[in-house]
Amino acid sequence: MIKKIKELASKLEEKTIAYRKDLHHFPEPRWREFRTSSIAMKKMQELGYTITMGSDAISKEYMMSVPDENTLKQAQINAVNNGADKELVEKMTGGFTGFWADMKFSDDETFLALRFDMDSNIITESSDNTHIPFKENFSSCNHNAMHACGHDGHVAIGLTIAEIIANIKDKLKGSIRFIFQPAEEGSCGALPMVKAGACNNITHILGLHIGFQAENDSTIICGTYGFLASTKLNVEYTGKPSHAGAYPEEGKNALIAACNACLNLQAISRHSKGATRINVGVLNSGDARNIIPANAHLELETRGINTELNQYMEDNAIRIINASALMADCEVVIEKHGSSMSGCSSKEMIAIIKEAASYVEEYTIIIDEKDFGAGEDFTYMLAEVQKNGGIGSYIQAGVNRYAPHHNNKFNFDNEGLRPAVEVCSIAAYNILKK
Ligand SMILES: [Zn+2]
Repeated sequence: MIKKIKELASKLEEKTIAYRKDLHHFPEPRWREFRTSSIAMKKMQELGYTITMGSDAISKEYMMSVPDENTLKQAQINAVNNGADKELVEKMTGGFTGFWADMKFSDDETFLALRFDMDSNIITESSDNTHIPFKENFSSCNHNAMHACGHDGHVAIGLTIAEIIANIKDKLKGSIRFIFQPAEEGSCGALPMVKAGACNNITHILGLHIGFQAENDSTIICGTYGFLASTKLNVEYTGKPSHAGAYPEEGKNALIAACNACLNLQAISRHSKGATRINVGVLNSGDARNIIPANAHLELETRGINTELNQYMEDNAIRIINASALMADCEVVIEKHGSSMSGCSSKEMIAIIKEAASYVEEYTIIIDEKDFGAGEDFTYMLAEVQKNGGIGSYIQAGVNRYAPHHNNKFNFDNEGLRPAVEVCSIAAYNILKK
């Protein structure tokens, strides 16, 4: 059967690459994955999977960092103009772009979930002639959006695995679920899907990223630990404008509040129990040289090696942000724009991946697990499955890369996709075989 899976992966390889190029050409950032989702959903329906979508797949109250109505509407129009199914896109109104697709083989309780993230980054793609997607005419055609992390590859891999599984369904028991998740960048998409039940009754879960610490297409990392827990915050300070020469005493200076916050956020004491991070990445404020600035906008994130240490950073950050408002006599509104928790892959699942990887010729370097040192909101799904007694792992499948992730020249060789398809399909077969 493993031979058959590998043959199917080879037979479908051209299709996998075509998916990837098409998705790369039409990147969609968080909560705007209308076209991507519609294409994936139609394909999954054709293959015989049962779809759960819209507010059934995403709990609205946990959605964070959703763009305004106009932006969403425009993205929907754009998606339909670029070939998305109008009816499906209509059903995703409000940014409900995530869905899951199930196939049941038998009443056995084994239930494997595979998660693939779909969103692009908010960045303008390079139009340098050395950048292959540009040279070969599949670089981004959407303004300020680019697949600079490889999620185009993830969706292509997911759809191919789904086709292989549909082809061998007679040999399987239990059930399988493909989770297509929006808004991974900024860590917004996983939690609302978990809250809507994406991981209910799941006994095994796999997440995957191409590249990252697997630096070439000979390498696979079968499990990941040391995900940093993280919280993303947006802060709005509101003061009172005033003439800076004539009546400075009447103003309330929001810029001063923001600056006090910035400096003191960096001064949060490090923690004896482990690594923490904080970064203020954005500060916008003020209107003119001679006006006391009445507004300031900050975007920051905290991280910690575990959920407790991140909570320590978040609690201190919120105290400092509020105190800075008080010092400058300004109002402040703090909004959470995303979060992820720490996590560890399960040893039993790492062993299953490791065995599957041994059948894939390309993988000559098979690594058990690595310390991630970054965040990924897949951890919400992993934790949910593990909490209920299940097992899971986050795989890093190597590809040959041309630039680091999140760079405007990020690209990878399409030849790295098929081995990733093979390892996941073989692992899925080993978990679900009759
Ligand atoms: Zn990514």
